[in-house]
Amino acid sequence: MDHKSRQERLRHGFGANRLDGLLVTHLPNIRYLCGFTGSSGVLVIDEERSVFFTDGRYTSQANAEVQGARVTISRKAALMATGEWLASRRKKKLTIGVESEHLTVADSAKLEGAFKSKIKLRPTWSMVERLRMVKDSEEIEHLRAAVILGASLFDTAVETIRPGVKEVDVAAEMEYAARRQGAEGMSFETIIASGPRSALPHGRASAAAILSGGFVVCDFGVILTGYCSDMTRTVHVGKLTPESRRMYQAVHEAQQAALDAVRPGVSVGRVDRAARKSLQISGLGRNFTHSTGHGVGLEIHEAPRIAKGQREILRPGMVITIEPGAYVPGRGGVRIEDMVVVTESGCEVLTPTGKELIAI
Ligand code: ZN
Ligand code: ZN
Repeated sequence: MDHKSRQERLRHGFGANRLDGLLVTHLPNIRYLCGFTGSSGVLVIDEERSVFFTDGRYTSQANAEVQGARVTISRKAALMATGEWLASRRKKKLTIGVESEHLTVADSAKLEGAFKSKIKLRPTWSMVERLRMVKDSEEIEHLRAAVILGASLFDTAVETIRPGVKEVDVAAEMEYAARRQGAEGMSFETIIASGPRSALPHGRASAAAILSGGFVVCDFGVILTGYCSDMTRTVHVGKLTPESRRMYQAVHEAQQAALDAVRPGVSVGRVDRAARKSLQISGLGRNFTHSTGHGVGLEIHEAPRIAKGQREILRPGMVITIEPGAYVPGRGGVRIEDMVVVTESGCEVLTPTGKELIAI
């Protein structure tokens, strides 16, 4: 991975933000910029150099992993060491950006104390996240591998889902299979939502037993080599009514309509509109209560958001989810989610799993 060129691209943004440097505290951003995968550290990038601060627990890990930055092991907390180092360095007054979405008010006050007015802190928003939106070929390969592993868990779900089986037991089998295949973890809490619970867009697997005669929404993902996968399939247990079949078909069509809209140059809002319009035509517009998708990478939810009114323009290399759903309170819900990579001419669906309705 070319961490140096990522840092260089970040530096290109310093001028427009009137910054002499950026203090990176969000761990996924640190990983992206210098390769460190541990859970404590601060990366400072200024015009000329990059320095990574961490403590003694991470000495060997930092030396083995960090690329494109000097490693400094401090006795103090990394943030304070960073602040003191910056304050001691120059006579000239510096303006250093902080990641305002990630630095707490308390830590910001601590830094101000360490700087003793020699340095001005400037809030910044999503500077590294914006770089991370477009994945390089190596990242796309990592995501592809995570998606393939993640998708294999759907087979486990289909084998396990039966009337009388608890939702948590389905999740447990899937998570065990994920670990056995080398997943570092799940990218979020596995959602297995059956019967009326399938109408909850975020129905985490509960102790409820799956009953005959309803949908089961399965939304899950794994982390592999640091990269997340995310997919949803909805199966039906027991006798299928024409109404349920229509609902599934409507979501399936809406998902296809959104996939068809994904191509470079198109705004994410337009992709969202494609899914929404399709569900409106099916009479389920009001039952689609969340956004159409989100970016995925080192984190499960990344920029861009594929949502109403969002103006981000799709570019080749962006990896996003397309996940419309329809939910009828008290009755049930359906969601279908794939991960796709934006290509030069459209998109490639990474999720290999079929979308025909599976009835158990
Ligand atoms: Zn999902
Ligand atoms: Zn998702």
